[in-house]
Amino acid sequence: MFASLAVAAAVAASGPATMAEWHTACDGKEGWSDPAPPLHVFGNTYDVGTCNITVLLITSSKGHVLLDGATAEAAPSIAANIERLGFKLSDVKLIGASHEHYDHVGGIAELQRRTGATLMAMPSAYVQLQTGQLDKNDPQFGSVAGFPAANVGIMLRDAFDVHQGGLRLTSWMTPGHAPGSTSWTWRSCENKKCVTIVYADSVSAVSAKDYRYSGHKAYVRAFRDTLRFIGRMRCDLLITPHPGASQFIERLEGKAPLVGPGQCAAYAANGRAALDARLAKEAATK
Ligand SMILES: [Zn+2]
Repeated sequence: MFASLAVAAAVAASGPATMAEWHTACDGKEGWSDPAPPLHVFGNTYDVGTCNITVLLITSSKGHVLLDGATAEAAPSIAANIERLGFKLSDVKLIGASHEHYDHVGGIAELQRRTGATLMAMPSAYVQLQTGQLDKNDPQFGSVAGFPAANVGIMLRDAFDVHQGGLRLTSWMTPGHAPGSTSWTWRSCENKKCVTIVYADSVSAVSAKDYRYSGHKAYVRAFRDTLRFIGRMRCDLLITPHPGASQFIERLEGKAPLVGPGQCAAYAANGRAALDARLAKEAATK
């Protein structure tokens, strides 16, 4: 008995984790850098992020795409998760991002070094990713830390198709939570069933203490356009940078449908309600 236990302990875990293993690692953890084991989401799509921040790996036989990098501290665990799934870091060819805040892009510089991948960015996120600093128009400017500067090699556009091996991902400009907020869509198949996956960026109206959305009419207009757009997206399987914002873990373990209609509409409606509530609060404290 002792001998077999020793053998089991010596063999490193491989492949995606069970939900039980995920819970053992993550229950009670509230930080953004707490290492989580990798999870299989659907088809060629995996979550290699931390307990509370999503990082997606979309794989093909000719190179992979990574979306987001969590915090700088999380980079080693993200790299370890990719390898645990049986993929080579050097096969990660492209990296994309949701938005330019340290909890989602802080690990990208280090992951670029480890993989050699090319970073893609919208023009609206380019300077921030290159410098590690927030844009002055960001509602959170001045209130959150910067992040390690990365090196953008591909400039994206709205409704832009990115190809890697047989993969095709589309990038969408969805400003609001941050000026450079970007959402992503792709098709993924499993057992002959194909779905449209939407990695919709954060839609929460979070700001620095003195910031007033009501004083930034054009920004709020763009934010509302984003909410309308996300609400109407073709969307079979929604994933969000903060897993809790779309009950991602609960859906992965079957407590709610992983694939199904209305996920993006509900997510956008929540964002709209929170933005309306924030504007009402500002109007009441003129
Ligand atoms: Zn953010």
